[in-house]
Amino acid sequence: MTITGKQLIDGDWVEGQAGNYQAVDPSTGEMLSPALSKASAEQVTRAVAAAEAASGEFRRSSLEKRAGFLRACADEIMALGDALVERAMAETGLPRARIEGERGRTCGQLNLFAETILEGNYLDVRIDTAMPDRQPAPRPDLRYMNQAIGPVVVFGASNFPLAFSVAGGDTASAFAAGCPVLVKGHSSHPGTSELVAQAIDRAVKSSGLPAGIFSLLMGSGREVGAALVVAPGVMAVGFTGSFAGGMALVKLASERKEPIPVFAEMGCVNPVVLLPEALKADAQSIAEAFVASLNMGVGQFCTNPGLVLAIENEALNSFIDSVTQVLEKQPAGVMLNEGIQQAYTQGVASIAGQPGVNQKAVGEDQKGKPGFCCQSTLLTVSAGDFIANPELTEEMFGPAALLVKCRDLDELSASIEGLRGQLTATIHSAPGEMAEYEELVDLLTQRAGRLLVNGFPTGVEVCHAMVHGGPFPASTDARFTSVGTAAIERFVRPVCLQNYPKELLPDALQDSNPLNLWRLHNGKRSQDAL
Ligand code: NAP
Repeated sequence: MTITGKQLIDGDWVEGQAGNYQAVDPSTGEMLSPALSKASAEQVTRAVAAAEAASGEFRRSSLEKRAGFLRACADEIMALGDALVERAMAETGLPRARIEGERGRTCGQLNLFAETILEGNYLDVRIDTAMPDRQPAPRPDLRYMNQAIGPVVVFGASNFPLAFSVAGGDTASAFAAGCPVLVKGHSSHPGTSELVAQAIDRAVKSSGLPAGIFSLLMGSGREVGAALVVAPGVMAVGFTGSFAGGMALVKLASERKEPIPVFAEMGCVNPVVLLPEALKADAQSIAEAFVASLNMGVGQFCTNPGLVLAIENEALNSFIDSVTQVLEKQPAGVMLNEGIQQAYTQGVASIAGQPGVNQKAVGEDQKGKPGFCCQSTLLTVSAGDFIANPELTEEMFGPAALLVKCRDLDELSASIEGLRGQLTATIHSAPGEMAEYEELVDLLTQRAGRLLVNGFPTGVEVCHAMVHGGPFPASTDARFTSVGTAAIERFVRPVCLQNYPKELLPDALQDSNPLNLWRLHNGKRSQDAL
């Protein structure tokens, strides 16, 4: 379990040929050992060629074999033990409980995908049997199923060093689909990335799958990341990060000779609407829960509640007072890296400097603590100023929120109408109150991938019914989710076999239904043999 600083290419650990760098501990600003290498363009080409070569065997591998591989990945990650937890803590500044929780989520997610593919619904099998005597023309035998799209490039996210990184949701769903994965590791947690890649490497080997199905390449996004996205053998990209980064990848992918999809999850502000009766009933509890959500993970969640909207009244004033009291006692938090800390400081200053914006509350300062710290912040603005200024809808990635005070329901609705796509939208409602706000709820639903009632959006369940995506710019394709088992749909494509020799059909399409799948047979869902 030693960190070597090498790249994993086609089952071999090799020194990167494009120079060295070191990880940084964001809680001290100090460099961490050892020195790490960066992959060269030639090494990227080699990894992509290996992924292409392994693609057919992996695509055709049995569901049992792939499920076993996913479980082996989870077991190997757990077997890394404390070495993984400690390195991730050192590279991210996140506390042990958070890293251990994230490790559980990462392994749970791999095991859930194993169950999902064994159950087989993701194959979406449809069979329309031949009708040779149909008039005026016979119908051929048509059999439809999803199959793996091919090699996928995954960009590790800075803010989830395990659950959205090397073996995170993008990798797990691509592996589950039968797609080789090429990870561009995030430079913020390279040692963590390598340890997890070592675990996956062991799982690949023990599962008897071809080594080319997984490579880890470290280095800059503009070099290693861009080279991966434009490599001809790559068929799709999974990304979580900034709007600028995501859109740069979309541009590269669309300008290829053969354009490919980029499933990018980017920034948003996750509006939270506080209805009047809900505030009147318990402004203080809502305020406390809001500050806890705002500060979770030092605000570095894509579902952070960065925008609060409510109609002005006494209850809203109590809410603001309660938020102020709790927030001013928040100790400064360590951010993931210096770039994110600087972007946060500049982002908050930029929003605070807009016309009509007031700084209502600020958390404790660094008090001489070292590292890349930040202060929690609450800003307020009138709906009039908010509606007039689209810059106020920009994400402040970190523990900061803007509260919009609306004079009435019309202003509240107009404020929401000005919002672009969001991962989540939240409503706080007293019993029965929401029914009076049908249009407002509809406005929110049109803009978000997940609508929550009386909760806060941080804490995303990994399950079958989750949607973690949303209209642009929250994500680049609102039809898909990047969390939950439906994430696999990004990495498959449907294929129809027409009049295919029965003895050569894949198991999923055979008359006898040997996998016991639920199939759409001549328009009716059934588990029966034909
Ligand atoms: P990022 O800058 O978008 O970087 C994410 C990954 O994409 C990194 O591997 C990066 O490579 C690569 N990349 C960035 N720009 C690229 C380009 N033009 N071409 C090719 N690859 C590129 O995100 P981050 O480092 O995680 O954090 C920076 C900011 O992103 C934050 O301050 C925040 O605003 C936002 N963010 C948002 C979310 C969210 O979920 N909404 C999550 C994380 C971050 P390098 O290794 O070279 O940087």
